[in-house]
Amino acid sequence: MKVGFIGLGVMGAPMALNILKHGHELTVFDRSPEAIARLVKAGARSAATAREVGAASEIVVTMLPEPQHVEQVVLGADGLVEGLPAGGIVIEMSTIDPATSRRVGDALRARGMELVDSPVGKTSEHAVTGTLTLMVGGNQPAIERATPVLNCMGTDTYYCGGPGTGHAMKMTNNLLATTIMVANTEALAIGVKNGLTLELMQEVMRTTMAWNQQFAVAMPKKAFVGDDSPGFAIRLACKDVRLACEAAEQMGFTASVGRGAQATMDRAIAMGLGDRDTAALMFIREKELGIEIRQQPAALQKAA
Ligand code: NAD
Repeated sequence: MKVGFIGLGVMGAPMALNILKHGHELTVFDRSPEAIARLVKAGARSAATAREVGAASEIVVTMLPEPQHVEQVVLGADGLVEGLPAGGIVIEMSTIDPATSRRVGDALRARGMELVDSPVGKTSEHAVTGTLTLMVGGNQPAIERATPVLNCMGTDTYYCGGPGTGHAMKMTNNLLATTIMVANTEALAIGVKNGLTLELMQEVMRTTMAWNQQFAVAMPKKAFVGDDSPGFAIRLACKDVRLACEAAEQMGFTASVGRGAQATMDRAIAMGLGDRDTAALMFIREKELGIEIRQQPAALQKAA
């Protein structure tokens, strides 16, 4: 199949590589020439614009940071819609709000094309191994045609419903996952400041309603070992929560827990940490309170 890919970042680059590995002809574009060069080295063709990617493809995947980037790449000047042939499909995999997803999809459909929304769950490691969770929305015939490409990137596929429902699922998921992460950093910092160790809190909370996957799986891999190298950037996590809060406000209610988590991340971004992994949110608390949440129990017990 002739496939295109636009947005070759932390997630997009390994996802595009997996499409190549499955034997599809791949044409790529990114605003970063270095990102394009890495994929060309692996066997992809490069394009100078999104329109050129569309002209060379039957199906094009977009994996971009924010809603405005998706609108610009698909519908803007030299956008995908200008090059993609009638019947072409855009698989939109970024985390964006369902309203933008539906608007872009409707504009494509008005020109005889289709949009399948399939944002992804899990991490950049799963992007490398092609084992992402896929939250798929759209019209059934288009989803069926997109399935061979989707299968190159993910193993856990959930059909969420009509156009925009995949993005609705992902936005809802990330509102909850990110607010839990921010709440963890707050609670753990207060605990350590009160003389508790991380290990004791882990042991006790494993048996209570406080236990969660961020605490059990994500934080031990990054925050607890002092690693905030790029994985899931704070600027992206903050964007997801902001989009969910804005969607809530359009429905007439205030997502106050989400807005609280967003305020923490806005502060981290103002401190210049937007490109760091969300692990850095815990390091800010450590710095502010003069503590080390990562400290081992043996060391703390000795100190006591
Ligand atoms: P990233 O910032 O690493 O990559 C985005 C890429 O898009 C970059 O290479 C950038 O140069 C390119 N780009 C931006 N604007 C462009 C434009 N107008 N034209 C062409 N290229 C453009 O982001 P990422 O971590 O790969 O995430 C991509 C999306 O996936 C985001 O919406 C994010 O929220 C979501 N997501 C990320 C993760 C994660 O763990 N990183 C997990 C799930 C979902």
